[in-house]
Amino acid sequence: MQFHLNGFRPGDPDVHDPVDAAGAPDTPPDAVDVLIVGCGPAGLTLAAQMAAFPDIRTRIIEQKDGPLQRGQADGIACRTMEMFQAFGFVDKVLRESYWVNETTFWRPDEADRGRIVRGGRMQDTEDGLSEFPHVILNQARVHDFYLEKMRNAPTRLVPDYGRRFAGLTVDPDADYPVTVTADRLDPGHEGQTQTIRARYVVGCDGARSGVRKAIGRELRGDSANKAWGVMDVLAVTDFPDIRLKGLIQSADEGSIVLIPREGGYLFRIYVEMDALARDERVASRNITADHLIAATQRVLRPYSFEVKEVAWWSVYEIGQRLCDRYDDAPGDGTRTPRVFIAGDACHTHSPKAGQGMNVSMRDAFNLGWKLAAVLRGQCAPEVLHSYSEERQKVARMLIDFDREWSKMLGSPPRSKADPDGVDPEEFRAYFARQQRYTAGTTIEYGPGVFRAEGRWQALAPGYPLGRRFHSAPVVRLADAKPMQLGHVVQADGRWRVIAFAGPDGAGIAALCGHLGGADSFLRRVTPNGADVDAVVDFRAVFRQGVHDVKVEDLPPELLPRKGRFGLIDYEKAFCADPAADIFAMRGIDPDGCIVVVRPDQHVAHVLPLDGHADLAGFFEGFLRPAG
Ligand code: FAD
Repeated sequence: MQFHLNGFRPGDPDVHDPVDAAGAPDTPPDAVDVLIVGCGPAGLTLAAQMAAFPDIRTRIIEQKDGPLQRGQADGIACRTMEMFQAFGFVDKVLRESYWVNETTFWRPDEADRGRIVRGGRMQDTEDGLSEFPHVILNQARVHDFYLEKMRNAPTRLVPDYGRRFAGLTVDPDADYPVTVTADRLDPGHEGQTQTIRARYVVGCDGARSGVRKAIGRELRGDSANKAWGVMDVLAVTDFPDIRLKGLIQSADEGSIVLIPREGGYLFRIYVEMDALARDERVASRNITADHLIAATQRVLRPYSFEVKEVAWWSVYEIGQRLCDRYDDAPGDGTRTPRVFIAGDACHTHSPKAGQGMNVSMRDAFNLGWKLAAVLRGQCAPEVLHSYSEERQKVARMLIDFDREWSKMLGSPPRSKADPDGVDPEEFRAYFARQQRYTAGTTIEYGPGVFRAEGRWQALAPGYPLGRRFHSAPVVRLADAKPMQLGHVVQADGRWRVIAFAGPDGAGIAALCGHLGGADSFLRRVTPNGADVDAVVDFRAVFRQGVHDVKVEDLPPELLPRKGRFGLIDYEKAFCADPAADIFAMRGIDPDGCIVVVRPDQHVAHVLPLDGHADLAGFFEGFLRPAG
């Protein structure tokens, strides 16, 4: 973490000096750059991202009267933890959450089908998939961390609670093209309507999104004909694997998913309910928490299950549905998008693979930096088409996966009595195969404005184009600190160019000469007076150990002078860690290479170390010259 660049500041470095971009919370301006509707995981991820830019005015409205306290989603995939690292609060999540280390499988006892027996147990996340575990934490706590991040940001962004989005109009020629009306529900203002003008509006308002309806988009797919009961309980049981994630199938009483929760005592149980008839709503079944407890007791036989407190419960009604576009751009390409939707507003699916919150947050992570780049004049508004293009494909894959997984989980285990059921071994094998997918690490964006074709992919097969930059250990040269290279990619909207050196540092000096040259693209895209790494942050990794590379031999581009005092940034150069060599782990070519990483941590390009003109050409394809 770097701070004190522009002078010593006492106190918590996470609390930034305030700027006046967003205005005071109780006197919100009526015109903003970005208006976000909805304080769920998608809206708060986007708000935390936008709050990082002091020059962008952002506002977030929420119909509820305050932050979420309990319930809803709880699974946090490895890839999402990597994203939390970029937002700066992963350590808090690691400390507080339950870590899903192993999953256990229970099935009916062949000798007595009224009882369940342990069918097997497997590691949850394969070694080396991510530097972070798969964890479980109440969605409300994730919200809290984002809210804290927003509160401490230069813009001191806080949500406006008690505002319900009512409608919007778009006038593409206006300075603030989107006009939103919201009903005020906050005490003293009930019955009033408020108008907010915005350059961009993002509907993060959940599965029944009003913003989606206002732009004429629809969720298509299966109707919500599947209901799951879910409860967070404190209970006493003699079921031995109660502190392991469990997929538990009984012979005749259905299946449950057991999710141990943070804090050591709480756990969540998902109970699959009967399929609903067409157009039937689950409310008509009058299901209560007692029904869920009784169903759990039947599945867990012969084990006891005595509930002491139900912290939260719900019946969660869901269909696999997807929106074909995530913005309001007309299909004829006559204008660029002004209104976007993200999260459950675009896709819904079962909670069983724990993906809803994760995918929603990652939608927002994909969109935030693009909006910032356009609003700050770095990119043309046309780049905003890439949000829907990239994220809609991800959701389509998720829906297909969820359909298959739900079918498998909802089928009885194969037995003599049920020969058409699912083979428990097949069930386990499928689960294992899908682990990388559910971890979120296999998501791959296709070629486009922000991702090159794979001409030089062979130079770094461990960094597949379009996938997230897979971190690995390195040692920082100047202070010999062992660390993860991926952690230099913070959620600050900047691009990273990471040069992996050839033998004895070969190729780095020439690349630095190019980047530091008078006509370098880096100079063209960096605003006058800004730090050299304000838009594109250049780093280098050497093959040698920290004792074999000398700080004094580094080119000036790896020791840039920054801030109002021209202080030297010593954190640009790294060496391989002899205990875990990043060059071997990621298959870097012996002559080295350049890896370009997007602000959302995905790999945009892999090039030869001497591909200077191609590197410049790639960036000049979307970054405008700065003033
Ligand atoms: P949401 O979390 O739905 O957030 C949308 C926000 O927008 C809400 O705060 C809402 O109040 C607000 N909003 C809606 N309309 C307006 C409006 N007109 N004006 C202003 N604000 C508005 N996932 C699981 O994995 N396991 C579960 O057990 C589970 N249970 C769930 C139970 C419920 C009741 C719900 C709603 C969701 C549940 N989910 C569960 C799904 C998971 O929470 C979502 O996938 C995830 O929260 C999606 O995030 P989001 O930000 O897109 O939407």
